[in-house]
Amino acid sequence: MRCGQTRESAGRVGLPGALGDEVERMVCAECWKEWIQAQIRVINHYGLRPALKEDREKLYDFTRQYLGLPSQAAGEQV
Ligand SMILES: [Zn+2]
Repeated sequence: MRCGQTRESAGRVGLPGALGDEVERMVCAECWKEWIQAQIRVINHYGLRPALKEDREKLYDFTRQYLGLPSQAAGEQV
């Protein structure tokens, strides 16, 4: 989805619900690796605490934006 190329899927990455399914279906392993790196900067920049549910939700939003996935408003089913 993000790089526009068909490559090996990122597979199951341990994200819950629809987001985990979308990553498996639409994100390649390369883009996922890039996000893992970017994610660290995002967490530091915004001072997110992934242990908190509220901050995790924000992080999932950033994950969608970065990877070009449809927003949660499109109908999240957990
Ligand atoms: Zn990709």
